[in-house]
Parts: sequence; C-alpha cells; structure tokens
Amino acid sequence: MLQVRLQTGCFSKEWLDRYIRLGCARGIEQFGVVDHLYRFKECREYYEGHMLLDDSPLGRLQRAWLDQVCTYSIHDYLEGMYKAALTVPGLAVGLEVDYFPGGEKQLGALLDRWPLDFVIGSVHFHQGWGFDNPDVQQRFQDYDLSELYKNHFAVVKGAIASGLFDIIAHRDNLKVFGYRPDEAELLGSYREVAAALKAHDAATEINTGLLYRYPVKEMCPSPSFLQILFEHGVPITLSSDAHFPDDIGMHLNTAMQAAQRAGYKKVVYYKGRVRHTIPLC
Ligand SMILES: [Zn+2]
Repeated sequence: MLQVRLQTGCFSKEWLDRYIRLGCARGIEQFGVVDHLYRFKECREYYEGHMLLDDSPLGRLQRAWLDQVCTYSIHDYLEGMYKAALTVPGLAVGLEVDYFPGGEKQLGALLDRWPLDFVIGSVHFHQGWGFDNPDVQQRFQDYDLSELYKNHFAVVKGAIASGLFDIIAHRDNLKVFGYRPDEAELLGSYREVAAALKAHDAATEINTGLLYRYPVKEMCPSPSFLQILFEHGVPITLSSDAHFPDDIGMHLNTAMQAAQRAGYKKVVYYKGRVRHTIPLC
C-alpha cells in the first residue's frame, strides 16, 4: 500500500481510486476529499505567522513537524484531484484549513487563489500550541481546563464569524486526549457555538476520527453537543477522517445512527461552494 503511494504519489489517481473503491464497497455514494492546508509550501508563511516555532522545546518540536509535513505544492494536489474528479462523478475537492485568530485576512487572500468545492475550518492550536500532538499532550496538565475550553470555543466562534468556511470541523476536538471538564459546564458554550453556526449559515460535521484514532475514543461532537446542534438547526456532514484508504467510512454507520437519534433526517455536501442536501437513510 505504502509502495503504491510512494511510487505514484499521494495525489495520484491510483491512490485516490483506492479510497473510492473501498468507499463504494462500504456504501458511500457522495465523496469529498480534503487535505490539510499545512501540507502546502504556498501556505507555510501563514503557519509560521501563527504557530509557536521559537527555540523552546515546544517550538523546536513544532518546527521539525512543519518541516516534515509542509512539503507539497497545492497545485499538484488540486490538479491531481480535479483530474480524478473527471472519472468520479460528484467528487468534491476541498481543503481543511487551520483558523488562527487575527489571520483572517491572510487566509482569505490565500483561499481566493484556488478553485475549491468546499472549505473546512478547524482549530487545532491553542495560542500556537498544536494540542492534538501526542508528543506534547502533557501540556494539558498546565492548564485550568475550564479556561482552556472557554478559550477554545471563543476561537471556534471566531472561525465561524470569519465567514471563510463552509463547514466547521470537529468543534470539540480539544478532548482528544481525554482532558475535559464536566460536560455540564460546557453546555452553554455548545449552545453559543451552535447559535453562531446557524447565524452564519455554516454547516458542521460528525467526525469519527477521534473515535478510532485517539485516546478519547469518542466522536466529535459528543452526543450532547450533537443534540444541541440539531436543536439549533445546524446542517451536518459525515466524515470518517480517512488518512488512509482502509480508514474510509470507518464508523460512519455509528455516526449516521447518532445523527438519526439526535433527529437529523438529512446530511449536506458542497460542490462549487454551494450546499446540497441528501436524505439520511
Ligand atoms: Zn482536523
């Protein structure tokens, strides 16, 4: 498998075909492909401006990470995916983009440069610290979790208000390593995030990645967050966060059942930055 990826490249039709074939076999009819913005050299400056990359141990570790991941050209990604889209009817091509407070203008100018079917906004950083990196997860112990979550949701609301994104990803991914205050105290923030999504006409997702890839072993959003999103009328997409072809569709049935339990009857997808709905069944 890795050999195919190395020989043909991770933006090749051969590599994408593996996802599509397995996804079809698992009952998926509508596909959206994304890669992370930090993978692309054209966007490195944006990350350098907002990540902690100084000479502290965390800064050095994150600099090494950025050097390792930020190696591709976005043109190769888009060219490869749009070429593949010619043979995969309905394939939507997007990006998952880190939001940093204060970076709206720079990010908006970057995103304007490329044709995209959809843009997912996400928050993976707290004041420059990439909090989902397992190598530095002990940093959670330095924080008052109530304060940390309050700050995180404020940044998520900033991402929503920026109007740059069609979909806001995994809003409660701060729980990735299991550090979370009693959820009862988060319900107010959940409601504020849901109200902001509705007010800005943005969708959100059920993402199963944290269920099968991280210690918390829970989807994003949590069941109570999902219920609140439904009650506010926020549209949702489903994502298996497939980093490899074998991951595609992982736990999507669980996600669908959770959506239905919450009351959802439809899911959405985007093409040419226009939202479409399909029944959930
Ligand atoms: Zn993400």
